[in-house]
This record gives sequence, C-alpha cells and structure tokens, in this order.
Amino acid sequence: EASAKVIDGKLVAQQIREEIAAEVSRMKDAIGAVPGLAVILVGDRKDSATYVRNKKKACEAAGINSFEVRLQEDSAEAEVLKHIAAFNDDPAVHGILVQLPLPKHMNEENVLNAVSIEKDVDGFHPLNIGRLAMRGRDPLFVPCTPKGCIELLRRSGVQISGKRAVVIGRSNIVGMPAALLLQREDATVTIVHSRTKNPEEIVKQADIVVSAVGQSNMVRGSWLKPGAVVIDVGINAVEDASCSRGYKLVGDVCYEEASKVASAVTPVPGGVGPMTIAMLLSNTLASAKRIHNFQ
Ligand code: NDP
Repeated sequence: EASAKVIDGKLVAQQIREEIAAEVSRMKDAIGAVPGLAVILVGDRKDSATYVRNKKKACEAAGINSFEVRLQEDSAEAEVLKHIAAFNDDPAVHGILVQLPLPKHMNEENVLNAVSIEKDVDGFHPLNIGRLAMRGRDPLFVPCTPKGCIELLRRSGVQISGKRAVVIGRSNIVGMPAALLLQREDATVTIVHSRTKNPEEIVKQADIVVSAVGQSNMVRGSWLKPGAVVIDVGINAVEDASCSRGYKLVGDVCYEEASKVASAVTPVPGGVGPMTIAMLLSNTLASAKRIHNFQ
C-alpha cells in the first residue's frame, strides 16, 4: 500500500519555467534587456553534451539568450580562461557556466575562480560558497541542484525549520551546499558520507532525507522514519532488458519501499533533475535583474 505523496518535480519545474518566461518578457518590454547565459563545454563527454543541450533548449523556451563555446578535450586551460574573461566583460552575458567535469589536465579550482562572482550562476565560486556557509552573509548565487531541492520542499508545503535533516553525500556541487542550505533554513543537519558508521541509524532520525550519492537502492525503506520526506538526487543507470535502450534511470532510494514508509518522496526521473535546470534559469534571470537594476 503505497501511501507517500509523489513530489512531482517535472510539474513544479514547469511552473517555475513559466514564471521565469513571464518575468523575462516583462523585463524585455520594460527596459529592452534580455538575460543571457554563456556555457563553456570542454571535451566530448556524451552526458555533458546532453546537459548542455537541455540547458540551451530551456533558455530558448524561457526567452533567455544562450551563448555556447565548445572546446576540444585537449585544449589548454588558458583557452578556457580566455573565454571566461571575455564573457566576464560581455554585457549581453549575465551568467557563465563551465560544464563539469573538466578534462583531467585542467585545474578546476583555477577555472571556477576565474568566473566573475556577479555572473556565477552555478554558485560554485568559493566566495559564493563561503558566503553560503557564513551567518549574516548572503551568496549572490546558490548552486542549482541543492536550491532545487529546497524549492521542491517549499512548494510542497514541507516545513524545514526545527526539523532534523540528514544529507547523504558531501560533494561540492550537491551534498555540501544542500546541507548548508538546510541549515540556513533552520533545520538541524547531519551529513552522512562514505566513512559514516551505521548510516541507517542516522538516516532513521531524519524528518527530511536528501540523498546525493550515486548508488541505486542504497537507502532502504527500513532506513526511514515513518512520515519522513525523501528528496532523491541520485541518478543511476541500471540494466533493464524491458527498456529499449537496455537500461533505466533510478535514484539512490529504493522507491517502492520508501513510498510505503515516507510521507512524500521524489521520483527519479522527474524529481530533482528538472528542478536543476529551472534553478539555473532562475539564477540567470536574477543576475540580469541585478546587473540592470530591474525589480
Ligand atoms: P560525488 O560522487 O561527487 O559524491 C558522492 C558522495 O556520496 C560523496 O560525498 C561520497 O562520500 C558519498 N558516498 C559514496 N558512497 C557512499 C555510501 N556508501 N554511503 C554514504 N555516502 C556515500 O557525486 P555528486 O554529488 O556529484 O552526485 C551525487 C548523485 O547525484 C549522482 O548520482 C549524480 O548523478 C546525481 N546528480 C544529480 C543531479 C540532478 O540534477 N538531479 C545533479 C548533480 C548530481 P565521500 O565524500 O566520503 O567520498
């Protein structure tokens, strides 16, 4: 008897994208300025190319201009830095995104440091992350996937303040900023990672679970407190002969089991994934509004 409410990220993301499109056209009508997002893609990873294509399509649908630079896998880091510098100076560009991961010969830290914090719509610049971590400071941008998780909770009417939250995973792009954001929302936050002993005992205490690991079926129904809210960020390909492409995508959480214990759960696909792109558009719009001083 599945009882958990399904948190429909696709639907929420669609609503947000419509709100953004309306704001983009209001801004264009009022001051003639159109938000612009620049994407730099290095190398030919298929997954990265797909993400970049989806981001570009989403921009177009929202009326946001998109600019794209594609560089060969063996390009020099200086080449990437040159393009970042040009976008930093380009008044038509309000957001700059360097698609990760970069090729191994490049220094990710150098590259991310080069993006102007005013245009850091991915929220990965150390100044933005540092401000996110500090009390009394505000980052200009918050990383898109964790921001999408919070937005899903908010729009599903889930109270965060005073609740116990457990984040599984501590990566720079998802787990760590998700934990910081939940703490800013006044949750009491615990982080579980690969060296954590008895993760199930810790997860069991959580009113809100955010899982960002990358292992299918890791979080079982028995790990969850009855009534918990589960946000599953993981995207894992598992073999499935019944699918035409031979595999299907699942999250970190055993969905069947979780939906019998949790009060609400995000599906994969169709949960956090669509929210990530919606938050990127939202950050780009916010950046353009700030740069043009438009409310
Ligand atoms: P990383 O591989 O960078 O981080 C994984 C984290 O999980 C690490 O902190 C690691 O711990 C932890 N971990 C690994 N194994 C275990 C374990 N057995 N128990 C507890 N913790 C464990 O991944 P990302 O953060 O980049 O991504 C996580 C998942 O989210 C992936 O499936 C990815 O595809 C997905 N994702 C989805 C997005 C979306 O839009 N929906 C966007 C980005 C990512 P340690 O630090 O100790 O190594």
